[in-house]
Amino acid sequence: MNMKKGLLIVYSGVSGVGKGTILAKLMPMEELNLAYSVSMTTRKPREGEVEGVNYFFVDKKRFMEAVRNGELLEHARFVENDYGTPKDYVEKMRNEGKNVILEIEIRGAKQVLEKCPDALSIYIVPPSIEELERRLRERSTEDEQTIMKRVSKAKKELKEIDFYEHIVCNDDLDKAVEEVRQIILNEMNK
Ligand code: 5GP
Repeated sequence: MNMKKGLLIVYSGVSGVGKGTILAKLMPMEELNLAYSVSMTTRKPREGEVEGVNYFFVDKKRFMEAVRNGELLEHARFVENDYGTPKDYVEKMRNEGKNVILEIEIRGAKQVLEKCPDALSIYIVPPSIEELERRLRERSTEDEQTIMKRVSKAKKELKEIDFYEHIVCNDDLDKAVEEVRQIILNEMNK
């Protein structure tokens, strides 16, 4: 029997928008058959983050080696750190019929969509910049300077998201989850 190859889902949103929270609700939904692509990063782990679960935490030397060896499907620098998607896992999971979700920032998303125009792309927006700033402070995982950098980056980024196929507003968490669920189900049934 020929198994249908899984979808490639590019999933982005500005820092602090709640995309991780939405995803945490989607991942256990069996009907969506999702596999989360764990990225490689040079960022230091935040409290509670686990190696191989949240990220593969590496030093700059190992990251550059992965780039040189062509191990990454895409990579980008984001607020002073490097992030990239290991290619092998994505292919393996898709070949097993899993819908692979890449939680990546906008420049990486562009690279993926250039290489794989069939990828499904979803961008989560906040109801407003003020609300975003409030959420970032509430999360308090970063210092003030980093928060301000992330807010300023968000403002710029929101002007460049037209290339995403679907834009979902995270005003109400359950509604946003349902919207993303429907987008994925529709694509699976095409
Ligand atoms: P954070 O430091 O908050 O975990 O992630 C910062 C940003 O990097 C987020 O927008 C996140 O989606 C993005 N990111 C995480 N992994 C990757 C990756 O592999 N490639 C790219 N291009 N961005 C990533």
